[in-house]
Amino acid sequence: MSLTEIYQRVENAADQAGRSVDEITLIAVSKVQPLDRVESVLKAGHTVFGENRVQEAAGKWPAFRETYPGITLHLLGPLQTNKINQALDLFDAIHALDREKLARKLATAVQARGQCPELFIQVNTGEEPQKAGVLPDELDGFVALCRGELDLPIRGLMCIPPVDEEPSLHFALLRKMAERNGLDGLSMGMSADFERAIALGATHIRVGSAIFGERVA
Ligand SMILES: *Cc1c(COP(=O)(O)O)cnc(C)c1O
Repeated sequence: MSLTEIYQRVENAADQAGRSVDEITLIAVSKVQPLDRVESVLKAGHTVFGENRVQEAAGKWPAFRETYPGITLHLLGPLQTNKINQALDLFDAIHALDREKLARKLATAVQARGQCPELFIQVNTGEEPQKAGVLPDELDGFVALCRGELDLPIRGLMCIPPVDEEPSLHFALLRKMAERNGLDGLSMGMSADFERAIALGATHIRVGSAIFGERVA
């Protein structure tokens, strides 16, 4: 599907929800995609991209950034504490803040640098044992820790719904948790469900295969 078609679908979904398309950031998820596919999206003028791994991003984005100005890069996958500084060099936003140890080390690194990327707390809305994210019951305490003691500005919440459940239930739950914590950023919705996410208030949608084609892993 072309980028133009995706823009059109985002706009239609925003219209239907009575929202402005300007409230929605389309993150083109370029993980494991061949470089020529990524480059064609860059050439089309798209500037916001998402990657899952620090190492992989470090291998391709510094060079792209020299050619294409104004790129914003979002880290979507889990962050190991020993990669924090490399991640802060590369990324403008981190979507998988998911545990206290990471928050503490991130706070120290951010303080030393005097600047902080946009931070989203990942919530394990499906309470899946194998999945990263703060459990719903522990979220309010974690938000308070980040904002209070650690002085980390939190932009919003992020979730990846269980594959076998209706994503809208998880999007609605995430929104409720964001509202009760006074957060307005919602990173939710992927290729198969970004329109439903927009209907439920998504501010950041993460779309990979619908833009780039199936991943050849
Ligand atoms: C891969 C990935 C996406 C994009 O998935 P698609 O189904 O290809 O759109 C979005 N978010 C995260 C966290 C991912 O890992």
